[in-house]
Formats: sequence, structure tokens, C-alpha cells
Amino acid sequence: MNNSETMMVGVQAGAVSFVDEGVEKVLDIFQQKAAANTVVLTTFTHGRGLAGRQMPGVKFPDHGSMESDEANFYGGNYATPHPEYYKDTIIKVPHAPDLGKFDVLEALAGPAKKRNMKVICGFEDQWRTEVPGVSECLEVDLMGRRANTLCLFNPNVRAFWRALVTDTVRSYDVDGIMLFNERNGPLLNALGASHFQAIEPGKVTCFCEFHVAEAKRLGIDVARAKEGYSKLAVYIRASLKGQRPSDGYYVGFERLLLEYPEIVAWDRLFDKGKHEVLNEVYAAAKAVRKETQVGFHIEHVNSFNPFFRATRDYAELAVKADFLKIVVYNNCGGERYANFIRNIGSTLFRDVPLEELMRMNNRLLNYSNEAALDQLATAGLSSDYVFREMQRAKAGVEGKCGVVAGIDVNIPTSEGSRKASPEDTYAATLAALKAGSDGIVLSRKYSEMMLGNIEGAGRALRETIKK
Ligand SMILES: [Zn+2]
Repeated sequence: MNNSETMMVGVQAGAVSFVDEGVEKVLDIFQQKAAANTVVLTTFTHGRGLAGRQMPGVKFPDHGSMESDEANFYGGNYATPHPEYYKDTIIKVPHAPDLGKFDVLEALAGPAKKRNMKVICGFEDQWRTEVPGVSECLEVDLMGRRANTLCLFNPNVRAFWRALVTDTVRSYDVDGIMLFNERNGPLLNALGASHFQAIEPGKVTCFCEFHVAEAKRLGIDVARAKEGYSKLAVYIRASLKGQRPSDGYYVGFERLLLEYPEIVAWDRLFDKGKHEVLNEVYAAAKAVRKETQVGFHIEHVNSFNPFFRATRDYAELAVKADFLKIVVYNNCGGERYANFIRNIGSTLFRDVPLEELMRMNNRLLNYSNEAALDQLATAGLSSDYVFREMQRAKAGVEGKCGVVAGIDVNIPTSEGSRKASPEDTYAATLAALKAGSDGIVLSRKYSEMMLGNIEGAGRALRETIKK
């Protein structure tokens, strides 16, 4: 049974919504419509997924400003950074300029406390390359070019995340933090074995000096790793053109992995870096205040890709966090899962008809009666998908941390693809609660959510949670 005392009921929101609609009014909506007790407040990002108004080109929801902020959205730290915390890093992120001097944590702390609502700060690993110090910390790809992502083995990057957490938790009265890092290792990136990435095998990262140094320390042969990824790139480009290896597409791929175990080793290295950052973020938050709740956002590809699932061991993640927010976005999940199947079906599984490939993948993932591939984008994934994924997470963490369901509330989809209805949100929330979730977080940002959908989640919560 779900317990209303300990359950987190959160809504993700960016600073702009509080400026546009007023702090008290937005918190009223969160409490009244969503039955929320937590605001997951995007405090740091340069991305539009978690901050800013509705995505450019997408219809506005039924609240907030109806004017696009495309021209002045920038991102950064929506609270006020205190320079003394950032002495150990060359990365200097200023206060986000898009909303003037508005400090979202200062604005929210008092009103949230008065209502007994918790504030969890969302920090997202999304950057602009012109931010001071960033260009020197960028990853290096297979061809030696700078990428636009930051290397998690670069000491300046590590120091920045620790500093941001320490600064925020010490300077403000907040209840917790949540780190959003949706990045994957080079093997998955090379294959495009995800829902959103293009297949760009030459762009795999990272081969910067810090990455290479760590590889050498672990005894991984750097030259062999590069050679392996170069051959993988040749294989992928040929597969995309339909040039079938004489033993078939899958065997061609498997043989490369056997010949170059360094391909997998380099992929694991990325995960090692990511997990070390999680450890450091956790330690930094707890060092300021032991009660600070630390959570990690677990990205969508974790539910689609069996290989990726293998790299995200819930039991291992559970000891680094107080809670994991599991993405179980079911409406946009339809088109995303279909993209994933088409991506892997264009390379290593190219010998398998796509519909068959999806059916087999469904079995591997323990999905039940989902729509056929050509209907999937229009149908979305079912609430049963939400139930199964939350049940898996709950079992996986073995009671070592909480699991919170990331519920899809109007995450934009392509034309013709599923658009969330209040009934969908109700059913998804109910499914997550039935699976034993320790909470829910309405995602991704309030500025794209319809009020009726928020209400749908609230209805499921009020019906389920023990009074
Ligand atoms: Zn690197």
C-alpha cells in the first residue's frame, strides 16, 4: 500500500512559469490539481526540455504566457551562484540571464515551506559551449574533434558538479537535489541504439586526455579501442546502406565485439565516469546536510534497450541515491520506442523484419500487449507498460532506495503521434501507484502541461493514497 506520509508527489517546473503565472498561483495549482507535496524545480540547465516556456512550434497549454521565449531563452543557474564555491573549476556558470535577476530558489523557498511543500532542485547536464570554461572541458570524438558534451573524467567538470551541489544546498533551504544526465556510452551512441539519437558512428566519445589517462590506469588498450570503434563505424555505415556481411548483420556485429573487447571496455568507461559523478554529487549534498534527499533521473532508453538496461543495474544505483526517478513516459513512449526499433533494425538487427524484431524485444523487456509497430506512435505505450517498468524498478532496488515514477504529462510528440489525455495521465499514475512506486513526478515541465492532465494525476493519487 502506498503511504501518503512518505510518498513524493512532485511536479517538474522551470523558473519561467513562476515569473509568468506567479509563485502562489502555480503552487495552488500543484496542490489543488496534482495533490502535490513537492516541486522539482529546474535550477540548472541550458536545455529546453526542463526549462523555458513551451517548445518552439508546439501548441501552448491552457495556462501561462502564450508568447514563445525562443528569442531570449538561454539557461544557466536559475538561482544565484556564489563564486567562492567554484574556485576549483574553470567552469563559471553565471545566473541565467533570461529572467533578469529572478532567483527561483529565493522566490520559492518561503512560499513552499509555508505550504509544507518540499523543494527538490533539478540539475541537468546540458550546456552551451560559450559558457566560460566549457570549451576547455568538451569531450573529444573518435576523429579528434571536440564534441558539445562535457567529459565526466575532466577534473574541472567533476569539481563543477560538486561545487554546484554544495553551493545550492548550503546557500538555500532546499530539501533535495535531482541530477539529470541522459547521456549514454559510445557503443550505444555509435549504433544509435536509442530513441532520439541519429546514427553517427564517427562521433563517438570520449578520447580526451583525461579519458585516455583513466583507460591506461585500468589497463585498457587505447589504440585498440580506437581501432575497434573505427571498424564499428565502417560496419555501421555499410549496414545502413544495406551491405550485408556474408555471415549476416548480427554476426558481423558480434564478431567485432569478440575481436575488440576494448569496444565494450570503452563503453563501460563512460558508465564508470557517470557513476563516479553520481557518487560525488551524493557525497557533496550529504556533506552539507545529511537529510538532503538525493535523486537521479533514469532516462527513457533504460526501458527500451536490453543492452542499456544491462548497464543500469538498479541495485548498484540504489546505494548512490535516496531515490531514482524512473522515466516511464508512456504517451511519447510509443513514438520513441518505434524510433528505437527502427534504429536497431537498420544495423545489427537488419536481417529481422521490424515487426518481428519489436515482438522479440517486447519479450526481452517484459512488455505485454503493446500496439503493432506501425500503430505504436499513434497508440503510445499502455499504462501496463508503466506498471511493469515500476514493478521492475521496485524489485531492482531491493529496498535500498525509493523509486519514483516519471509520469508523461503532455511531452510533445510529432504530428499524428499520441497526445496525452487526462484519462491517460490518470491511468499511468494509477499504474505506477499499483506497482508500489514511492512517488510520482509529473514530467517534464509545467509550462507544457495541460491543467486537465495534471488533474488526472491528482485524481489517481487521491483515490489511491491512504488517508
Ligand atoms: Zn574525456
